[in-house]
Amino acid sequence: MANILAIHAHPDDVEFLAGGTMALLAGLGHALTIATFTPGDCGSKQMGPDEIAAVRRQEAAHAAALIGARYFCLEMRDLAIFDDDASRRLVTETLRQTRPDLVLTASPVDYHCDHEAVSALVRDACFAAPAPNYQTRAAEPAPPLDQIPYLYFMDPAEGTDREGAVVEPHFVVDIEPVFARKHAMLAAHASQRIWLKEHHGTDDYLETMERWTRARGALASLPLGEGFRQYKGHAYPQNPLLEECLGTAAVKFRK
Ligand SMILES: [Zn+2]
Repeated sequence: MANILAIHAHPDDVEFLAGGTMALLAGLGHALTIATFTPGDCGSKQMGPDEIAAVRRQEAAHAAALIGARYFCLEMRDLAIFDDDASRRLVTETLRQTRPDLVLTASPVDYHCDHEAVSALVRDACFAAPAPNYQTRAAEPAPPLDQIPYLYFMDPAEGTDREGAVVEPHFVVDIEPVFARKHAMLAAHASQRIWLKEHHGTDDYLETMERWTRARGALASLPLGEGFRQYKGHAYPQNPLLEECLGTAAVKFRK
């Protein structure tokens, strides 16, 4: 069984983009962790940053618990995630503490600056984590990883780049059998339904997710799907571990 880490910028990103896939992996007996870089401290017009952050940590922990995953937050802050030296060391330490075999993270191209910074930080921390001479400067540093973890990118939000062009996945996961679980995981983020209505003009959080999940599934002639791309940079593991874990649920994307 694999140790799998899904790590993204904000509470609800993993649920939105990979909640169904995580639910499938939970059903297969894998050990799952969901992590966010921030506690979503800018996600409210009514509550101050500390107050909404406390609410959203609870929501994220509850969502993760629905599939038996643990949750933690790296405690960076919204709109303040940067691909810099201190952040790369922190993310590397996080990987060494969590020790994943396989990592799911944000798309390198996305609408939000935090998402793009997370993608670069996680990609490069995966590379750094097995290097013994790379010091994280943590108070109690964990030992280096034995190898670079398998790395996969989730879809960008709404499946497009900043100009609206579709970002094509390498494969789409059939999440129909676990869609109710994905729906429940996202519904755990109750504070965000209010926020998105006020700030993004999105009237229904859960309906948006369903519409999006149907559109992603349609790419592979599935009713409901989530897309992924495997990162295959030099030295990263190349064989399709996530597809192998998911078996027939992973459907190769064809136009
Ligand atoms: Zn986000």
